[in-house]
Amino acid sequence: MGLFQPMETKAFDLLTRLAAKYEHTSAPGAAFSNRSTAERLIVVAITEEDIQDQKQWPLSDQVFAQLLSKLQQHSPRVIGLDIYRDVPHAPGTEALAEALQKENVITITNLDSLGEVEVPSPLQVPDSRVGFNDFVVDPDGVIRRNFMFAALGDRELYSFSLRLVDQFLKSPAHQLTAEADALRIGTLRLSSITPDMGGYQKIDADGYQTLGRYILPENVARQVSLSQVLDGDFDPTWITGNIVVIGTTAPSQKDLYYTPFSAEGSNDLLMSGVVLHAQMTQQLLSAVLEGRALLRGFPQWGEFAWVWCWGMVGGLIAWRFTHPGTLAIATGAGLLGLTTIALGLFSVSVWAPVVLPMATFSTTVATIIVYREFRKSFYDSLTGLPNRALLTQELQRMLRKPNQSPISVILLDIDRFKVFNENFGLRVGDQLLQMMARRLRQNVPAKAKIARIAGDEFVVLLGWLSRREEALSLAEKLNQKMAEPIEIRGQKLFPTISTGIAFSPSSTDAHHALNAGDLLRDAQTAMSRAKSQGRGHCEIFVQDMRAHLSTRLGLEADLREALQKQELLLYYQPIVCLKTMKLAGFEALIRWQHPERGMISPAQFIPIAEDTGLIIPIGQWVLEVACLQTKKWQQQFPVASPFISVNLSGRQFAQKDLVEQIGQTLTEIGFDPAKLKLELTESVVMDDVEASIDVLLRLKALRLQLGIDDFGTGYSSLSYLHRFPIDTLKVDRSFVMEMESPNGTAELVKTIVSLGHNLGMTVVAEGIETESQSRQLQALQCEYGQGYLFARPLPPEAAESLLHNASVWNHNAA
Ligand code: C2E
Ligand code: MG
Ligand code: MG
Repeated sequence: MGLFQPMETKAFDLLTRLAAKYEHTSAPGAAFSNRSTAERLIVVAITEEDIQDQKQWPLSDQVFAQLLSKLQQHSPRVIGLDIYRDVPHAPGTEALAEALQKENVITITNLDSLGEVEVPSPLQVPDSRVGFNDFVVDPDGVIRRNFMFAALGDRELYSFSLRLVDQFLKSPAHQLTAEADALRIGTLRLSSITPDMGGYQKIDADGYQTLGRYILPENVARQVSLSQVLDGDFDPTWITGNIVVIGTTAPSQKDLYYTPFSAEGSNDLLMSGVVLHAQMTQQLLSAVLEGRALLRGFPQWGEFAWVWCWGMVGGLIAWRFTHPGTLAIATGAGLLGLTTIALGLFSVSVWAPVVLPMATFSTTVATIIVYREFRKSFYDSLTGLPNRALLTQELQRMLRKPNQSPISVILLDIDRFKVFNENFGLRVGDQLLQMMARRLRQNVPAKAKIARIAGDEFVVLLGWLSRREEALSLAEKLNQKMAEPIEIRGQKLFPTISTGIAFSPSSTDAHHALNAGDLLRDAQTAMSRAKSQGRGHCEIFVQDMRAHLSTRLGLEADLREALQKQELLLYYQPIVCLKTMKLAGFEALIRWQHPERGMISPAQFIPIAEDTGLIIPIGQWVLEVACLQTKKWQQQFPVASPFISVNLSGRQFAQKDLVEQIGQTLTEIGFDPAKLKLELTESVVMDDVEASIDVLLRLKALRLQLGIDDFGTGYSSLSYLHRFPIDTLKVDRSFVMEMESPNGTAELVKTIVSLGHNLGMTVVAEGIETESQSRQLQALQCEYGQGYLFARPLPPEAAESLLHNASVWNHNAA
């Protein structure tokens, strides 16, 4: 803290100058309550010219004798002689000795550091009229303090200015008494300063010291020169009843001092000793007569609170304002406020430290900025979890640690997170992420490290498990916990999680060879694999997954040729009328007969076809083949006359000439559009509602049927549903499958069915695998059913034989 004292005292000087300037400009003499108070003191200055006029130095005793008698003629209340006269300077020694006997004359001595008189008082002046030179020089050579009084044994030592004041006041009401740590003049208590007052850190505050509040020299007192007095060239009313202080102002006498007014390095504002005495005398008089307090500091605790408060203000500002521009402005305003308050306090005589609170303030601001930057680069601001950078570091550290148990990396990804964001807005998406982060925290052991490494990807690091099964069972538990339905802003969401797990090798050497990025990538690969199997799956990384990743690339190349090579097939899955239990139509489902890999499911290659755009020609092919086949069946079996459902992907739906193309295909084949149903998923039509409605209306104009597939999983905004020209809702199979379990989805299915009916749509239930499901749906008056219970997707010949047999599915009598 000692570091701050030099700066703090400089700040003190600045405050003094600012306060003095203000008082100077507000009104002449405003430093005192009125003009006359300033005039109660007059300085008789012995100037350079006076010394030259007298042609000698020291001036003879005669000159002073003359000066004193001239002054005494006009009855001053006090005369203070700020001139050492310890040795006679003839001539006129006798006369001066006599003049000094007058009761109203005060003389000066100098004390050494032990309080012993260094320069004795002159010419038999009694102790009661001698004051000591009272300045205290700070370590930087500037005078800010005054030494007022000291008691040495039974001796009481008064400063020169205190003697002047005491003499001037001279009344029982203004009796001067000394207490342990304060002086009293009448009822006024002048407490002595403490070693650490204001901006001081540790000073020698022995005796009774006060802090000077200096004003501009020209405001302190009137001034006349020695020769003016000797020549009678002055206004006698200036003298009568006032204090006269005699002293030298001549630069050659070196009785000049640095005060808060001395600007650094310049001697312009050096103040002569006599003016300094005048300053202190006036301050004491102001204190006694006008009740203007001397400068004081806060008590120790007050200072602590003051500094602490500014630290808090800095902290608040840095938390509140994060934009660099506003933060800079607020910080500037804070510092300006601090200076202004300090100046205000100074003007009511309180010296509060400025530099220390400024430093505290700035340090807090800086610390918080640094902390925030640190957080930003290592933590995710949305969930408060560590980010990828911190996680990677942590993982790297664990991999390098000797005797580290195998590390498990569990990577969790929210399925279809994009759909949540798109349908409910980013705020719901953000809240979903926060909820997921909370669930993660609640469901992993305290020792686990969690992070959010990307938009919807979280990682859990486990570094102490000895068996991989433990990690797997934790991952499965997490998968379950995270998938519990959540209500956000009145929306019930059913999130699911795909999880990938990767393990570090069990030998330490292999550990060292591995880096964090590899392990994370493995977990990511496993997660992608889990995703490709649908929602809510969990996969452990095995080496050949990387190979699998490259197979995807291989598949892509193969798919380009699959059409030409006629490797694509259409299967047909019957759709049954639940009322009559007769075959009503088919859904066309594509298959890929790969020459090496065998039958590939559309779940695997449709996404690739979407990504590459191959879905356009493939989709066109599906439509043509399905319509041709169905038309043939319609002609063959006019009674059954099945309809055909064809799936349309997002990419196809976004195709500009989709409507024209379909229209043209139907015309070319001569297919009855009423027997064609296009299936679209919710996310496809919800993407851009207005544009979708337009396309749907144009499709409807072709007089074909439109259906929403997998209804209930894409979180359709129900408020739009009635605006879509949709004929059919297809209840997603995940709801149908859960119908029978306790707390299952039976109610939900019921709701969807009646929703469809209320909107004038027919309802299809897909994924019916049991009779009981079928019966329940029948009871709900769901029009159509589709599922393994009736038939799996079938090759055309098998489908045809169903038509041929005019199949009717009967529930077994239970
Ligand atoms: P989707 O349109 O919802 O088709 C129904 C899926 O559910 C089919 O899977 C079908 O085999 C399966 N499924 C039917 N009944 C049951 C059941 O009782 N239990 C179970 N577990 N599953 C049942 P598939 O054929 O693997 O097709 C998957 C998805 O691939 C389809 O879902 C559809 O989105 C897409 N897809 C299939 N063919 C085409 C196509 O030609 N074009 C486009 N764009 N997408 C297609
Ligand atoms: Mg479908
Ligand atoms: Mg479906």
